[in-house]
Amino acid sequence: MAAQDANHTDAPQPPETPGDAGDGAPKSPAADAAEVKQLFLNERGEVEQDVIEIAARDIERSLLHEERLAKEKAVKKETFYSDLIYTLTNLRYEEKEARVLWVNLLTHKMEMSDRLDRNVGIRVAALDYFKNILGALDDVKIIDASSYIETAQLAVTDGLTGVFNHRYFQDRLLRDINRAKEEGGFVSLLMIDIDYFKQYNDVNGHIAGDVALKEVASVLRRNLKKDDLVARYGGEEFAVILVGLSRDQARLVAERIRTVIAQIDFPNEKILPTGNLTISIGLAEFPSDALERGDLIAAADRALYIAKRSGKNRVCLAPREQRRERRITKMLKVSFRHSENLDEAPMEATTADLSMGGVCLTSGGETAVGQVLCLGFEGFPAERPLLGRVVWHVAQPNGQSKIGVKFVGLKPEDTEALRALVSVT
Ligand code: GH3
Ligand code: MG
Ligand code: MG
Repeated sequence: MAAQDANHTDAPQPPETPGDAGDGAPKSPAADAAEVKQLFLNERGEVEQDVIEIAARDIERSLLHEERLAKEKAVKKETFYSDLIYTLTNLRYEEKEARVLWVNLLTHKMEMSDRLDRNVGIRVAALDYFKNILGALDDVKIIDASSYIETAQLAVTDGLTGVFNHRYFQDRLLRDINRAKEEGGFVSLLMIDIDYFKQYNDVNGHIAGDVALKEVASVLRRNLKKDDLVARYGGEEFAVILVGLSRDQARLVAERIRTVIAQIDFPNEKILPTGNLTISIGLAEFPSDALERGDLIAAADRALYIAKRSGKNRVCLAPREQRRERRITKMLKVSFRHSENLDEAPMEATTADLSMGGVCLTSGGETAVGQVLCLGFEGFPAERPLLGRVVWHVAQPNGQSKIGVKFVGLKPEDTEALRALVSVT
C-alpha cells in the first residue's frame, strides 16, 4: 500500500509539530500560521497556500489592514472568513459576520497573550472567545487530532479501493481547471473502464470482482506520479487527472497504464472473451477539448465510448469536432502586437475574462501562454487597444492560433462592449 500513501500527499497530514497541536500556545506568528494551516488541512483535506498566507499575515499584524485585505479578498472566495471561523468552531456564520468575528478573535487573542504574558494559540483564544464571551459554544469536546485526520481522510477516499472518491475528484477537477485558466497550462482527464467486467463478476463472483477492482486501482496508483490524481468514478470506472500534461503527453501515460494492466495476470481472467482483463481509456484535455469541468468529463466519456465501440483495450482521444466550437456563433477577429513593457500591465485590475466564458479568439502571429498582448478588436476604437494576458493557446492546422485571453485593466463599459461582440448560443 506504499503507492497509496505516495498518492495521498494532498490528503490530511499529521501535524508538523505535534507539541504545538496540544498545548495551543505556539511560540511565534509563524507557528500560529502553521496552526491555522493545520486546521485547514484537517477540515478540508487540502489547503490553498495564499489563503494561509493571508491568515498568517492577519495574525502577524493581529489587526487587519483594511484596504490591502479588501483587495486581496476580492480575488479570493466569498466564504473565506466564514470557512476560517467554521474551521475553528464548527459554527457557520455569514461571511460579513464571520469577518467581524475574526477581527474580534484576533483582538481577543492579543489581549489574552498580553494578560498571560505568553503567546496564546489561535484555537485556545477561539475556544475562550466563542465559549466564554459569545456563549456560542456549549458542551465543547476536545477531539483527538489523529482520529479527526482519519475522518477527514475517509471523507475523500473510496472505501473499497482506497483511491479518491467521486466527490473529491469533482472538486479537484474544478480547481485544476480554474487554476489552469488563471495560470495557463493543460489539464488532461482520463476516463477508464474495465472491459467485460460484468462477465468477470458473473463467472468469478463479486468478491473476486472486488479483488480485481482493488488491484486495478493499486496499479493505477503505482504507475502514476504523486501529483496525478486517481479516483474511483463509480462502479468499475476510474478517473485520472493529469495536471500540466497536454493530450499528446497524457496519451503516452494512458498507453503505459493500459499496457501494464493488460500484462498483469488477474485471477481467472481466462474466462473473458479475450482471455485477458483489460481497460479502455478515453482522454480529453483542457483547453483544446473543453473549457469547463462538465464538458471535459463529457468529452472524455465520448472518447471512452469510442474506445469501447472500436474493440476495447485501447486509448481513444476526444473527437475533434467540439461542442464548444459549435456553440460559438461568432469568433472575434483580433489584431495584436506584443506589449513592450510587461511590468506596466496593471495585472491586478483584471475585470473581465473571456476565456471563462468559453470564447475563443482567432489571431495571427506567434503567441504563447503568459504573454501580454495589446489587442485590437473589430468594433473597438483603434486608439483604445486593450491589454490581455494569454492564459491558454492552441495552434490550429491553418497556422492560426486560438487563444484564451485574460484582460487587464478593463473598464466596466469595455466589458459590456466585449460581451456584446461575442454571441454564444
Ligand atoms: P464493457 O466492456 O463495455 O465495459 O462491459 P462491462 O461488462 O464491463 O460493463 P457493464 O457496465 O455492463 O458492467 C459493469 C459491471 O461492473 C457491472 C457490475 O457487475 C460490475 N461492478 C460495478 N461496481 C462493482 C463493484 O463495486 N464490485 C464488483 N465486484 N463489481 C462491480
Ligand atoms: Mg462501466
Ligand atoms: Mg466495463
